[in-house]
Amino acid sequence: MTLAIGIDLGATKVAGALVNEQGHALAEARALTHAQAGVEPVVARIAEVVAQLLAQASEPVMGVGIGTPGLVDGAAGIVRNAVNLGWTEVALAHEAAGAIATQTGNALPVWVENDANSQAVGEFIFGAGRGLESFALVAIGTGLGGGIIANRQLIAGATYTAAELGHLSLDPDGRPCACGLRGCVETVVSGPGLVKSMRERLAQGGQTTLPAEFHAEDVVAAARAGDALALAALAETARWLGIALAAYVALLNPAAIVVGGGLGLSAFDLLIPAARVEIARRALPQSHETLQIVPAQVMSSAVGAAALVWQNQP
Ligand SMILES: [Zn+2]
Repeated sequence: MTLAIGIDLGATKVAGALVNEQGHALAEARALTHAQAGVEPVVARIAEVVAQLLAQASEPVMGVGIGTPGLVDGAAGIVRNAVNLGWTEVALAHEAAGAIATQTGNALPVWVENDANSQAVGEFIFGAGRGLESFALVAIGTGLGGGIIANRQLIAGATYTAAELGHLSLDPDGRPCACGLRGCVETVVSGPGLVKSMRERLAQGGQTTLPAEFHAEDVVAAARAGDALALAALAETARWLGIALAAYVALLNPAAIVVGGGLGLSAFDLLIPAARVEIARRALPQSHETLQIVPAQVMSSAVGAAALVWQNQP
């Protein structure tokens, strides 16, 4: 039995897990990121978390996988641009390996990938994508992330933006997006997008059971209780999700689409039937007749990051 360490590097926290070959977290550790302090202190905290987990390992640890926001050149281990961390051109794999060696005396190889991509690798190694030659992952949460496995390989893209379906504009005159475009899929298919869809309906004078302040999960709960406006808001999210998934289906013909993220999982049964109707309206039947749309199974981003270690074994 061999083990690996996965690190989910976020804007607020560094979450680590010691993971076995079945994708079970045997131990967990975390620290605050404090990204504004600069690269070196963040790398030092990653090394501290790795050291804590290494100390609890009773089997050999093969390496460390790090999932990070932003554009990542996984082959070179370089974070090209991560707005959330304020990073450009950070050689994270090299820096982290050095800090871990200094801290623990262990020369562990380190792999780095974009967080949604490492989630896709996690599903491929441990979860809903096991045994599949090709699938696409969509993670619907505060934004819309994606990852593509084709012919058992992660598709990163020439400039590391493959699967960034969240910023495909479906309506160039639609809602402004944080990226500068308008009508991006993520402006509707995300937690904040769903809240906005609900608020638009309320502004038109509709009746609802929701309180004045609400979150995406409240809209989902209201829809389950039969609130007509909440159901309509979710239907809009489902329709745009289906349009976006039709693009995956037409371009990749994946065996499966794995749906993750907080909203993607909590509203899975509310979103997917309507999304399927939209796919059927927009893509050849042969491209989606056998398509499976399934919920993600790997619930920890740190476990997903650990999968990078197994994915990169020869
Ligand atoms: Zn955008």
